[in-house]
Amino acid sequence: MTRKAQEGNDVSGIEGKHCVLTGGAGSIGLASARQLLARGATVFLVDRDPALLDAARQSLVADGYGARIGSAAADVSNARQTRDYLAQAVARAGPIDFLFCNAGINGAIVSVTDYPDALFDAVMAVNVRGTFLALKHGLPQMRDGGSVLVTSSVMGVTADPGVSAYATSKHALIGLVRVVAKEAAARGIRVNALAPGPVGNAFQDDIERRLSQVVGRDATRMLDEAIPLHRHAQPDEIARMVVFLASADSSFSTGSVFMADGGMHI
Ligand code: NAD
Repeated sequence: MTRKAQEGNDVSGIEGKHCVLTGGAGSIGLASARQLLARGATVFLVDRDPALLDAARQSLVADGYGARIGSAAADVSNARQTRDYLAQAVARAGPIDFLFCNAGINGAIVSVTDYPDALFDAVMAVNVRGTFLALKHGLPQMRDGGSVLVTSSVMGVTADPGVSAYATSKHALIGLVRVVAKEAAARGIRVNALAPGPVGNAFQDDIERRLSQVVGRDATRMLDEAIPLHRHAQPDEIARMVVFLASADSSFSTGSVFMADGGMHI
């Protein structure tokens, strides 16, 4: 079945929904945008990398979704740029039904005693402040009954040596999600966290290349051994969870952490 043909099969209420995705030009963001578009949504991609954003747009246009794609280059850790990208999204397609706070960076793999202060701050700025700003300025722009999803990580509920900034940021997001889930419940807006395990993409390849040097063995194989399902996720497997949490299929879930980690956290 072609991607466009799937649109007739939407039974989850995604059709016509206005979805804003940060980190929208990245691996998980773009895979999620494609899945949402395939079900008839309108998407607005936000990413700090204009070249990546352009390439993402072009690939979605090539799939025939041109009329339903908006985008803005913005740094999610910047308050003014956050207000701007949200205003542009709303001007283009009206109130937001689904806000996917997904932009993230991973930082260094070194012990806390060697962790550069500036890099710790940078990871917290993008991962935590960027999500805080999206929620602060995005919730007033959302339709009642909407859905918010924040990308945490298996590192949001577990820990490994060397990733103090990343693990701290991803743990922090779960606290933020729980608070905002309670605040937004009066409007029927659900707020959940998604916690992927290692995904087979460039973000994770970069971590594993550096981790291999730290542990002195192939980190990809090491992780596959540690994951009960013995493999990495494909971006599409994460994107299908995103669709589920955007949709009415998850209508009674809020303040929850949805693992998509092949059992790695067990
Ligand atoms: P990715 O690098 O492909 O995507 C991240 C995107 O965020 C990139 O396009 C990047 O340009 C963008 N970005 C970074 N800083 C930004 C900023 N300040 N403002 C706006 N955009 C910014 O990686 P991905 O795997 O798609 O990661 C998406 C999310 O998933 C991240 O939050 C990441 O921590 C999380 N995650 C990834 C994995 C994995 O294995 N890849 C596992 C668990 C969680």
